[in-house]
Amino acid sequence: MVIKNRKNRCGNIAVKLNRTRELLLDLIYPRRCPVCDSVLPFRGGLICSACAGELEVVREPSCRKCGRKLFSETAEYCRDCLSVSHTFDRCISAFIYNDAMQGAIFKFKYGNRKEYAQFFVQSMARIGWREIKTICPDALIPVPLHKKRLSERGFNQAELLAKGLSKELGIPVITGLLERRKNTVPQKMLSREARRKNLKKAFQLSSCDVKLKRVIVIDDIYTTGSTLDEIAFLLKGAGVQEVYGFTLCSGISL
Ligand SMILES: [Zn+2]
Ligand SMILES: [Zn+2]
Repeated sequence: MVIKNRKNRCGNIAVKLNRTRELLLDLIYPRRCPVCDSVLPFRGGLICSACAGELEVVREPSCRKCGRKLFSETAEYCRDCLSVSHTFDRCISAFIYNDAMQGAIFKFKYGNRKEYAQFFVQSMARIGWREIKTICPDALIPVPLHKKRLSERGFNQAELLAKGLSKELGIPVITGLLERRKNTVPQKMLSREARRKNLKKAFQLSSCDVKLKRVIVIDDIYTTGSTLDEIAFLLKGAGVQEVYGFTLCSGISL
């Protein structure tokens, strides 16, 4: 009993120290709004009130396969998922890739705004937790960056999101299993067919026998699903039964 109390006391002190550290960091490095980049009031949230409405959450109707927002109220799948057979099981996204989100992601990835991750993670957890709990994954796996791009950028945005979500949702994150061995051309510049070719053998697994049943692959943007398909193909070949995707945002589909 005494030991338990001492443990609790130590735990409380650690939590208080963590909070104090966060408060000090907030004072030294004020948080910025991920949309307009203005400095946010001290302890005043992670996005400014004027910009909160600029980001659009993906709501129903959405494609049952790729999770993108659908225009049609009656369709179950987007045109893309009706014509392409995806290897992944299902994908969900938190936000629509609109102009505000495009700007936020650009600053996050290329403008050294790593701190936006906190807002992205909290939003993803809040919006996606119900579906994530239903999937009940064994692990979260971030889409890896090639080491050359990682050294240029200094961080992998998908890994930041996955690690934050792991803490928020209590699901383990695995980072050493999947490796990017080809420094591919940015996908946004390519057609679907070119994306597929670009990604062929772009990834490799460090183990050919993966003891996981269900995993969720974490990335920032869902475009055509080619990256997720390529990773799902590898993971399923190594014994994983179900591979899902969870991205910060995705475009609107027809
Ligand atoms: Zn703002
Ligand atoms: Zn779809």
